[in-house]
Amino acid sequence: MVSSIKLTKRQEEIVQIVKEDGPITGEQIAEKLKLTRATLRPDLAILTMAGSLEARPRVGYFFNKDKERLFEPTEVLNLKVKDYKGHPIVVQKSSSVYDAIVQMFLEDVGTLYAVDSEGCLAGVISRKDLLRAAIGNKNLEDLPVSVIMTRMPNIITVKPEETLVQAAKKLVTNRIDSLPVVREIKHKPDSYEVIGRITKTTITKVYLEIAEQKSV
Ligand code: ADP
Repeated sequence: MVSSIKLTKRQEEIVQIVKEDGPITGEQIAEKLKLTRATLRPDLAILTMAGSLEARPRVGYFFNKDKERLFEPTEVLNLKVKDYKGHPIVVQKSSSVYDAIVQMFLEDVGTLYAVDSEGCLAGVISRKDLLRAAIGNKNLEDLPVSVIMTRMPNIITVKPEETLVQAAKKLVTNRIDSLPVVREIKHKPDSYEVIGRITKTTITKVYLEIAEQKSV
């Protein structure tokens, strides 16, 4: 569970002392702060309950390293797409809309990427694209996804070296749920191989991970 509490100045001082000198007894902390053990008791109780400090009988208080800040703000800004990308679900652009719907359920994803016979990215197929196609068409088995997909060059992509912040910006400004992570195919201008995907869920999970590691 994430416990995020705002520490008082005194509580922050306690955490600092324990970080530097832990394991340390309550008595010793009190001495350093020139306070009585009784005065400190509620603060120590709060910090232990929040998980910032751990207390062990006859050892004293020590700092809970798991709760240490693992991310500095600049590191967060530099997290790379290549380290967080997920597995892309790819279909041939000649596949039927019917097969694409089945694939979407089987793979439990919201977006499929379509490739041509040479494996180059050709289109993006979202849930709404499939719903729209299902409304007006009876023969979904005969309708290729290439007719209904969003096509190149209108596909918003992201490169492995780009940052998650750049990916998040593309998702938000283009109002889409996912981005194919691509690599340019050598000697073939404007042709891309799909090597991953970044979704709004990817970004949300990283955000949560950071929040949990940063919580005190
Ligand atoms: P949903 O349709 O499930 O709400 P999206 O919001 O991602 O999913 O898709 C909205 C529209 O944007 C669809 O027509 C889809 O083809 C298109 N789209 C989705 N992802 C991209 C992308 N990376 N680049 C260009 N168009 C996209």
